[in-house]
Amino acid sequence: MARIDGRTKIVFLCNPNNPTGTYWTATELEDFLDRVDGRVVVVVDEAYAEYMDADDYPDMRFLLRRHANLVVFRTFSKAYGLAGLRIGYLVGGPRLADVVRRATIVYSVNAMAQKAALAALEDGEDHIRASRDLTQKARFYVEAAVVELDLSIVSHHGNFLMLRLPMDDMLAYHRLMERGFMVRSMTDFRFPNWIRLSLSHLDIMAGFMDALADVLSASKTG
Ligand SMILES: *Cc1c(COP(=O)(O)O)cnc(C)c1O
Repeated sequence: MARIDGRTKIVFLCNPNNPTGTYWTATELEDFLDRVDGRVVVVVDEAYAEYMDADDYPDMRFLLRRHANLVVFRTFSKAYGLAGLRIGYLVGGPRLADVVRRATIVYSVNAMAQKAALAALEDGEDHIRASRDLTQKARFYVEAAVVELDLSIVSHHGNFLMLRLPMDDMLAYHRLMERGFMVRSMTDFRFPNWIRLSLSHLDIMAGFMDALADVLSASKTG
């Protein structure tokens, strides 16, 4: 908030945030929007909204009605699993939507992607529930497993989590890659020694924890 000045035109918030998995509550976001008071455009990126189950996660329909400077981004790339089709959507007032429409290339979303997205929305409920169950099980599993390895974790929202390692994250990235697991090293996000991992099926997570334990003990013995 303090960093918004006369030259600021737009503010992006990622909620829940990637890569930390932290989120703005409804009260925090509302308070922020009230203080911005329409002076800049506020974009809330909700790429991981479908994974949220916290009661105090904001319902943007309510905030959108009250704030004409607010825009929400959603995607079919994450919980809906359609990343390869390149489709998402924006929700906002007509004035902002029109500005965006004029700035985007024509036919930026193809017909196949639109059909798939509509179909995904139709059987959405079941798919999203299954997707949330899967990530939640994986999260519980990893959270318990990292306690044994004495590692810290930030999270706890989204389909990923961030782990702090007692070794260089780039080195860990390469060592894990040799064992068939690709994680994201976090040095570029200004979190040296942290990695971010995606949550998946339990057998994959178990394989990953074995590989990680292996990498960590190898780094200890040099
Ligand atoms: C994945 C993601 C998006 C959406 O990506 P697209 O595949 O381009 O729709 C947006 N924001 C964040 C933070 C993401 O992780």
